[in-house]
Formats: sequence, structure tokens, C-alpha cells
Amino acid sequence: MPEQTCSRCILDTTVPDISFNSNGICSFCRIHDSLEKTHPLDTNGNKKFSELIDEIKQQGKGNEYDCIVGVSGGRDSTYTLYKAVEMGLRPLAVHFDNGWNSETGVSNIKNATNKLNVDLNTVVADWEEFKDLQKAFLWASVSDAEVPTDYAILSVLLQEADRSGVKYVFNGHSFRTEGVAPIGWTYMDGRYIRSVHALFGKMKISSFPIMSMSQLLYYTFIKHIRMIDVPEFIEYKHSEVNDVLTNKLGWKYYGGHHHESVYTEFFQSYYLPKKFGIDKRKLEYSALIRSGQMKREDALKEIENPYPFNSEIVDYTLSKLGLTKEEFRQIMEAPRKSFKDYPTYYPIMQLGRYPIKVACSLHILPPVFYEKYLGG
Ligand SMILES: [Zn+2]
Repeated sequence: MPEQTCSRCILDTTVPDISFNSNGICSFCRIHDSLEKTHPLDTNGNKKFSELIDEIKQQGKGNEYDCIVGVSGGRDSTYTLYKAVEMGLRPLAVHFDNGWNSETGVSNIKNATNKLNVDLNTVVADWEEFKDLQKAFLWASVSDAEVPTDYAILSVLLQEADRSGVKYVFNGHSFRTEGVAPIGWTYMDGRYIRSVHALFGKMKISSFPIMSMSQLLYYTFIKHIRMIDVPEFIEYKHSEVNDVLTNKLGWKYYGGHHHESVYTEFFQSYYLPKKFGIDKRKLEYSALIRSGQMKREDALKEIENPYPFNSEIVDYTLSKLGLTKEEFRQIMEAPRKSFKDYPTYYPIMQLGRYPIKVACSLHILPPVFYEKYLGG
């Protein structure tokens, strides 16, 4: 049993960087309230968002596309693409194929881009290279074993925006439905990925980008590319969104949050809970509780049962990665480590805390960036 659970959401002391105020409310609820203020859903918020869309259309004049939308076949990214078209934008859908797409995920992308008549650009990672990077993160014994995908997606989206002269990159994240991942659970930066790969990987990576800090600064401050999490600006209720996607785009659900990727399913349902005691449902449910989409008592009840996993998915994952049972046993039993055990940009980011705060308050960087990495 965790030592303390938040009195408002269900995050608890299994989150290493959590803290509680005198009312027993956690630091992640505070982040939620702060993001509510920067992304209000009232008339003022709506007005600002429609001004932003006008600005995007204006900037996109003369270009083939107004914005890039990262798509995975999952609910959030598919709906973001749908909204972009509905708002009259001309998006280019970009998908990063890391070799782990589920069949449902692939057909969701195909159906959505066909029905919305949107061009799709798929960047395919060389499987041997990507596998080498994923295994390096497993051997590193950190809970960030899914960040190679997340960071490669971010790097691909910014690279594609730069290449096609597009100034806006849309993502489907929302703090109201997914929360903000604690850095003790999920941390990523380019130096971290390169250093873990240098220590535990065997191959050179050349088929997909791993953006450095200077590239990120170049995209942000020289090319003025902005990242926008569209669901944070609109009413975004899972039940309604599911209906729209199913009826209008032939979209299918794949059974769990982000399980459109087989590796993500393995990672969330088996690797994280069994090795780190991390149950990511707590993050998602907490976000849904704060945004009034789930009852706290229902969430508490649901997490009483361990995260369900399918042993076939575990076996499939090991065989696809080429890990023997013995190697996997060593990985599962190795002492837990964190990003702080490896070279990262984290110390530099802490030194740059105030400029980053200013950039976030001006929405040059997403406000969530400061809250996640440097808030508290
Ligand atoms: Zn809380």
C-alpha cells in the first residue's frame, strides 16, 4: 500500500517526485489547476483558440499545408486530425513507424486519412536500429523504456515541419485526459537517449532523427515552429470522441490507453508494473477525475486489481526484440535506475529555468514543458 494518496485524484507515493499540500492535495493536481488557467475552456479561451486558428491559416498561405499532425492511429491523434480538417485547416499527417503498430492502429490511420482526404507521410525506422535502441533502454534498467518512440516522434514531426516550411505541429495530448507524466516515471531528452544508446546499444542510428538540444532550439527560436496540443483547447470527452471517430472515420478502439502500439501495451501492462511498481492507469484516471470524466471511487476500485496483461503479448515482444527468457529475467531483476544515473540535459535545463519559464508563459514552448520538467 502506498504511504499517501492524494485526496482529490488517485496519485500516490509510488510517484517519486510527488508532494502534498496541507489539504492532502498533490503537486500534479496543482499542475492541472495551473494548466486550466493557461487553457481555459470559457468564451475567452474559445476566442483565443479561433484567433490562433486564423493565424495558422494566415501563415499557411502559399504553402501546401498549414500544419503537421502527428498520427498514431490512437484516439487522441486521430481526433486531432479530424478537428484540424473540421476547422478548415490543410494538415499533413505524419506517422512514425517504429515497427510496433497493431493492425487496428494501421487501419485507423488509413481510414482517417482516406476519409478526411489528408496526405500521409510515414517515416519508417530501420527495424534493426530501432530494436537496438529499445533494447538499450531495457538494459539501462530505467522506467523510460518507451521514450525512444516518444522522442523520435517529436524529432520526426519537427524535422518534417522544418522540411515542408510549416510553422505548426499539432499533437493529441491533453492534461485533462492523460495528465502530465511525472519525470520520475517518464523523462526524455536527446542527450539522455544518445547516452543510453552509446552505453548499451550496438549499432549506429541513421534512419530516424534523435533531436539534440541545439536542434530543438533552432526549430523553436530560429524557425519559430510551435507545438500545439489541440485537445487542450477544446471540450474533449472520451465517450463523445469515440462516437465521432467510430461513426465518421471507421475508427476502432484497441482495448487500452495507447495500446495501438504492441510495445506500449507490453510496456504499460507488464514491464512498468512488474519491474517498477508503476501503474500508469493512475495517471490517466487522475486526469479524468480532475476533469470530471471519472469518479474517484470508481478509479480506486479499478486499480485494486493489477493492470491486466496478456502473456501472449509479452512472449511476442520478447521474440520480436530477440531477447531470451534468461536475458529478460536479468532485465526484470536488475536494480532499478533512473535518468539521473545517465548523462542528460536536465542539469542545463535547471540552469535555464527562468528563460524556459518565460518561453512557456509566452506559449513559445508548451506551458506544460515548464510544469513537467521544472515546476514544483
Ligand atoms: Zn492529486
